[in-house]
Amino acid sequence: MNPVSVTVLLLALMIAFPATAATASRLSATTASDGLVTITPLGSHDGEFCRYDRALILEDPNGTRLLYDVGRTVAGADDPRLGNIDVILVSHMHGDHVGDRHLPEVNAGVCAKPDFRLNASPNTNSVNIALAKGATIVTGSEMPKFFAAKLKALGGRAEQSQLVRFGASRSIKGVTLTTVPATHSNGIAGSMIGGKLGALLEQSGLTAYAGPPTGYVVTFSNGLNVYLSGDTGITAEQQAVVRDHYGVQLAVMNIGDTFTTGPKEAAYVVNALVKPRAVIASHANEQATRKGKLLAGTRTAQFSQAVTVPVHVPLSGRTMAFDSRGECHSGCE
Ligand SMILES: [Zn+2]
Repeated sequence: MNPVSVTVLLLALMIAFPATAATASRLSATTASDGLVTITPLGSHDGEFCRYDRALILEDPNGTRLLYDVGRTVAGADDPRLGNIDVILVSHMHGDHVGDRHLPEVNAGVCAKPDFRLNASPNTNSVNIALAKGATIVTGSEMPKFFAAKLKALGGRAEQSQLVRFGASRSIKGVTLTTVPATHSNGIAGSMIGGKLGALLEQSGLTAYAGPPTGYVVTFSNGLNVYLSGDTGITAEQQAVVRDHYGVQLAVMNIGDTFTTGPKEAAYVVNALVKPRAVIASHANEQATRKGKLLAGTRTAQFSQAVTVPVHVPLSGRTMAFDSRGECHSGCE
């Protein structure tokens, strides 16, 4: 086609479909400022990054809300910070992630030793919140059946527990989820099973099999891909799968040491393997801040110094907003 006929065709198209032409120009002009994904940490103490903080609410621009690794710092299903929850993600079955017990209310205890006096076993904080909110728990490995049985036994629906195994994906309300490998353990403690079987497991020092632990890659409707590491050591899939296949722009990285990668190893994962545009520190197993300021000498401070991209500290209750490139537009330092 010669240039004149291309111009004539384009003009004809714009006359025939004026709305389409306007939409196309609007889409190309935005993307950076519109359609931000917001991430709000639900830690034990307002405005701080505390020892057991894991839980995050991730909200798609379309309003879909995901709760990642509820843990113990969400004060049960009535925690006023929760709001609507559509999807609950559980990286693995350990009590500090599923929520074997939890705070009676936000700010109970101190940042270095929060007060988790309320026992949520064997139901778990995750299942209680799923029931109260009508949310879907999306997990990999052998975890979906465990959650389905609990949900059903407690008056919910088995379909509220949905599977997504390594390599596959599942879309819920405009958000696409997949699980990715994590090198950790994933036994279900007897206390989360209850009854005779639970007691036998506790007595013998054994746990029940739940398949491998996972991380997640979440793809939001604005195109942002977020890696949620879960508890993990260094693993080749962080490069081969998380970076090379999914090309994540933002990572949430566990840095707690001994149980998972420490600050040095986590920095290597971020700098050399995953290579996101920015990272949110998580699971530091320490009081990392006082009055919202990062404390020198902490694991979080070491991680921040060792990482070559922006590190965002997840201060509880402070909402961070990210564009499709993983750039923070508000709520970050
Ligand atoms: Zn953990």
